[in-house]
Amino acid sequence: MDQQKRYRTMNAFLRDRFGEKVFKVPLNAGFTCPNKDGTKGTGGCTFCSPSGSGDFAGEKEDSFDVQYQQVKTRLNQKWPNAKTIVYFQANTNTYGDVETLRTMYEAALSLDDDIVGIAIATRADALGEDVLDLLEALSTRTFVQVEIGLQSMHEKTARKINRGHDLKTFDQAIHALTSRGIFTAVHIINGFPWEDETMMLDTLRHVNNLGVDAIKIHMLHITKNTAMGAAYRREPFALLSLEDYVDITVKQLRRLHPDIVVQRVTGDAVKEDLLAPQWTLKKFVIMNEIDKTMRRLGAFQGDMLSK
Ligand code: SF4
Repeated sequence: MDQQKRYRTMNAFLRDRFGEKVFKVPLNAGFTCPNKDGTKGTGGCTFCSPSGSGDFAGEKEDSFDVQYQQVKTRLNQKWPNAKTIVYFQANTNTYGDVETLRTMYEAALSLDDDIVGIAIATRADALGEDVLDLLEALSTRTFVQVEIGLQSMHEKTARKINRGHDLKTFDQAIHALTSRGIFTAVHIINGFPWEDETMMLDTLRHVNNLGVDAIKIHMLHITKNTAMGAAYRREPFALLSLEDYVDITVKQLRRLHPDIVVQRVTGDAVKEDLLAPQWTLKKFVIMNEIDKTMRRLGAFQGDMLSK
């Protein structure tokens, strides 16, 4: 466990595994999303930006090499010996024929000798058998993380955010990945205005029971150019305060299985695009408040697992 933290961070997990600092380098491969193009749905998830939740990914017009070097050069100034994981972040990065995916993943993995793995963000309904076979084969020779957005276990929320698939589809995708030994990370979102604390804790407990490897916990961001942003501008609705978010997130961490790695306890939004809540821009304040609260309570990840 990270000395400074009372939960199991991804930073510590990767350092233990690879013996060095490891950072992710986002690559934009120009994928689209089946929940936007009509294959599974239209409009996308209501909180999702036109970039497909890849606001910090590179420019898709640039080659992988250009995108990669831009980030690596900058981060190497701080961590000169760091290893990297190439990160397909924007949109649905398994949405394509399997040979195209193979070519892209192999091209990314061969950019640099410092690359120790690949992280692939996707949807639960975009993992066919051929894609699973490809990911499994890759995972026998490099670290492969597949991350999928659940956001909430509640079907009511899935409908309201236009996620475009049910909980069973999500659970089956996770099972298909974990049974092949692929490292899985799940995104959840706190603060949907119709969800209370009990519902958010239910989502956390559901993740606990899935056998996933990692979790990313986010606060709901309301951003411009999203369906939720448009609704918020028409009629602003209540969002969690920083104090409420910290309180709920600490409760989740205390109920999170100790084996699950915590990749995030808050998300990033582009400042210019963020409508609310503005406190989410203070990422380090949020992380510090979570640490302070856990220390004050004498709390650790999983110490209330059965509660
Ligand atoms: S599945 Fe991901 S990329 Fe597609 S609309 Fe939802 S959040 Fe955006």
